[in-house]
Amino acid sequence: MPTFEYAPAPESSAIVDIRSSYGLFINGDFVDGRDGGFRKTVNPATEEVLAEVTEAGAEDVDAAVAAARAAFEGDWGRMRGADRAKYLYRLARIIQERARELAVLESLDNGKPIRESRDVDVPLVAAHFFYYAGWADKLAYAGLGTAPRPIGVAGQVIPWNFPLLMLAWKIAPALACGNTVVLKPAETTPLTALAFAEICRQAELPPGVVNIVTGAGETGRRLVEHPGIDKVAFTGSTEVGRAIAKAVAGTDKRLTLELGGKAANIVFDDAPLDQAVEGIVNGIFFNQGHVCCAGSRLLVQESILEPVLDRLKRRMALLRVGDPLDKNTDVGAINSAAQLERIRELSAAGEAEGADRWSAPCELPARGFWFAPTLFTGVSQAHRIAREEIFGPVLSVLTFRTPAEAVEKANNSPYGLSAGVWTEKGSRILAVADRLRAGVIWANTFNKFDPSSPFGGYKESGYGREGGRHGLEAYLAH
Ligand code: NDP
Repeated sequence: MPTFEYAPAPESSAIVDIRSSYGLFINGDFVDGRDGGFRKTVNPATEEVLAEVTEAGAEDVDAAVAAARAAFEGDWGRMRGADRAKYLYRLARIIQERARELAVLESLDNGKPIRESRDVDVPLVAAHFFYYAGWADKLAYAGLGTAPRPIGVAGQVIPWNFPLLMLAWKIAPALACGNTVVLKPAETTPLTALAFAEICRQAELPPGVVNIVTGAGETGRRLVEHPGIDKVAFTGSTEVGRAIAKAVAGTDKRLTLELGGKAANIVFDDAPLDQAVEGIVNGIFFNQGHVCCAGSRLLVQESILEPVLDRLKRRMALLRVGDPLDKNTDVGAINSAAQLERIRELSAAGEAEGADRWSAPCELPARGFWFAPTLFTGVSQAHRIAREEIFGPVLSVLTFRTPAEAVEKANNSPYGLSAGVWTEKGSRILAVADRLRAGVIWANTFNKFDPSSPFGGYKESGYGREGGRHGLEAYLAH
C-alpha cells in the first residue's frame, strides 16, 4: 500500500505576543524584582530565547505573601461563595476565549505538541475553573462540616510538565474555598503562568488574591518556608517533596504533595490488543512521557508478548516526532537540556544493566532537545529503568504469567500514583484494581483526566488529593 507524506501543518505563533522581559505579578500589578536577577526561558524545540523572566528574591516573596495576606484579610476573605464563583467563572471564560493563544504559548515554552496543548491541557484548565466555580457556594454540602472555612494564604509550587494545567489544579480549588495564593511556576516554563496573571487582571480579580513569583528552586524554597504561608501545595520530584516535608514539619502549615510515579500498565492475554497498544502508546508517549502518572512499566502477560511487541513497534514507528507547533506532531521536544541528559543517562543505564533497547526510526531535528520514542525489553525488576522515574519517552517492558504475579510486580515500587489494567473481563478489572496500591487506576484506557475525579498517590508518590470534591479538603479548615 502506498504511504503518503504529511505536508507541514504549522500553527501560527503570530497569536502570541511574548514580551522581551517579565516582572513579578504581585498585588494585581507586574512589578520589577527587588534583587534585580533575571532568568531566560527558551523554546526547547529550537533553543531560542523566548523572554527574560524575573527571579524573585527574599523581599519579593515577602511582598507577594504580604499582598496575599492583605487580600485574604480584606474583601476576598469575607466574600460570599456565590460572588467568588463569579470570578472563577469569569477566569474560565477568558481562558476559553484565549485558548488558542494559551495553547501556542504553552507549546512554545514547554515543547509539547500543539495537538495536546490545544485539545488536552487548555480545555482541562478551563474545565477546572468551571468545576470549582460550581463548588464555591456549596462548600457546606461537600461533606467537610457545615461551616468550612478557608485556610488562608497558600504557597504553591508547580513543575514544568503541564505548566498551565498544574496552575489550574492548584489555583482553582484554593480560590473556590476562599484562600489567596502565591504561586511559583517552574523555571523552564513560566510564560503561561504570566499570561494567567494578565487574565486575572482582565477578570478584575481583586489585587493580591493571586500572586505569581517566578524564579528557580531557591524561590520555591523561600516560598514554602515563608512563615506567612498557611498551606503548601507542591507537585514535582520526590526528592524536592521530601525536602519540603522536612521544612514544613513542626510548623502548623498544611501540606499536600503530588510527587513522582512509575506506573504499571498491565496487559492480560484477553485484552483487545489494538486498543491496548493505543493505550500503551498514549500511556508513555503522551507529553513526551513527562507525566507523573505515565504508564512507564508495561507488564505484559508472557503468552502475548510477541504480538504486543510487534504491534507496538509498528505503531511507534508511525509516531511523528518534531515541531511542536505542527498539528501532525505526536511527540514534541524534551523540556530542557537537563531533562534530556537525565533521560539519556537512565537509558544508558538500561543498556549497561543488560536490557535490550529499541528506538523508533525517526529523524530528530538538529537543534533543540529531542529523544526518539524508545522501549526496553528484557527488563528485570532490579534494573534502574524499572525502578526510577525516567520522565521521558522511554518504556520498560516486563512480563508476568498470573494475575497474582502481575499485582506483585506492579506494587513492587516505592511509588503508587497510577496504574492501568487491560482485560476483557470486568471481574478481573475489579479484582486486580482492588489489590493495586495506586491512587488512580485506569481500566482499558490510560491518562484520562477530569476535574471531578480526585488524583493523588500512595507511598513516595505523595499525599493529599487534587481534583473533585476531595480536592476541596486541602483548602478548607473544618
Ligand atoms: P523539581 O521537583 O525540582 O521541580 C518542581 C518545582 O519545584 C519547580 O517549580 C522547581 O523550581 C521547584 N523547586 C525546586 N527545588 C525546590 C525547593 N528546594 N523548594 C521548593 N521548590 C523547589 O523537579 P525537576 O524539574 O528538577 O525535575 C527532576 C525530576 O523530577 C524529573 O526528572 C522527574 O523525574 C521528576 N518530576 C516529577 C514531576 C511530577 O509531576 N511527578 C514533575 C517534575 C519533575 P525550578 O523549576 O525553578 O527548579
